[in-house]
Amino acid sequence: MEITYVNHSIGNRFNDLIEINENLLKYPNLHDAVLSHELSHSDNAFSFKDLKIDLNKSVNSWDMLKFMIKYPKSFYQLLPIYYSRKHGFVYDINLILIYFVTICFFSLVYFLAISL
Ligand SMILES: [Zn+2]
Repeated sequence: MEITYVNHSIGNRFNDLIEINENLLKYPNLHDAVLSHELSHSDNAFSFKDLKIDLNKSVNSWDMLKFMIKYPKSFYQLLPIYYSRKHGFVYDINLILIYFVTICFFSLVYFLAISL
């Protein structure tokens, strides 16, 4: 497993390569949590185990939010699909699924609310 540091996102895994935001090096607790999160992922395109890992809060959300506000390029992590010169089009199936379920849920609540 190779680990490289980049100036955007938080942490991403590409088969045997893990990219981590270089600014996380200043926050060892967050860095280690992100690294162990990425290491726990499998290399499958999709698996419920990976989805569970992404839904599980293995990283302190409040500390992560503070980090993201300080380093706005880390918000790239929330894009379900993005383009990078190095990797081409990258999409995060778990994120797409989480957004899809969230949108469905709020649509359902909205339609129930207006039909009352
Ligand atoms: Zn993940």
